[in-house]
Amino acid sequence: MNFEQLGVITPIIKALEEKNYQSPTPIQAQAIPLILNRHDLLGCAQTGTGKTAAFSIPIIQLIHEREGDKNYRPKIRALIVTPTRELAIQIDENIKAYSKHTNLKHAVIFGGVKQGKQVEELRRGVHILVATPGRLLDLEQQGFISLKDIKLFVLDEADRMLDMGFIHDIKKLLKLLPTKRQSLFFSATMPKNIIDLSKTILNNPKKVEV
Ligand code: AMP
Repeated sequence: MNFEQLGVITPIIKALEEKNYQSPTPIQAQAIPLILNRHDLLGCAQTGTGKTAAFSIPIIQLIHEREGDKNYRPKIRALIVTPTRELAIQIDENIKAYSKHTNLKHAVIFGGVKQGKQVEELRRGVHILVATPGRLLDLEQQGFISLKDIKLFVLDEADRMLDMGFIHDIKKLLKLLPTKRQSLFFSATMPKNIIDLSKTILNNPKKVEV
């Protein structure tokens, strides 16, 4: 099995080759075709399984195919929400590497630092935004972020998100997202409260597990 057989396009394959990714991991083999076919996804996977690429690669591809050759100021088309600054930076770095042969713009925002540089990047326009919940809502409330053009939403590490007390932020955020969207939900564990939360986010999801 290789990335081409999963339907991944040449500019992304080229970037993966440069990162020396030779074949997809099990979660990537399952998730990439489903996401490219516009399914919602309930993913049970831990860090270290290649989960980040499993959602980032198809997101980059779907947005590149819609937006890649347009040259107006980009709107936020994909939003990836993750609980910690470290995870957010890691995801953004992966997106940077996988999208290097496309024209897509991406940015990462998180709390604990001054907002000026993040606001400046948002002003220039991004297609893919990686965020922690608090800073995301804060900048949205200040009018620096519009969520109305989002087509793809990822909730990453949902169980950790709830452990860290982000449930109210998540609920607030869900009210701001367009209802017509594709959603991907990842959690390392699937207790009842996580399943219940996933049901408020996902529409007829496919399940993937590793
Ligand atoms: P993650 O589970 O997303 O945190 O990824 C774990 C590590 O595996 C990261 O360092 C990735 O760069 C790497 N990785 C992800 N997918 C592949 C792949 N298909 N081949 C080789 N390395 C990969």
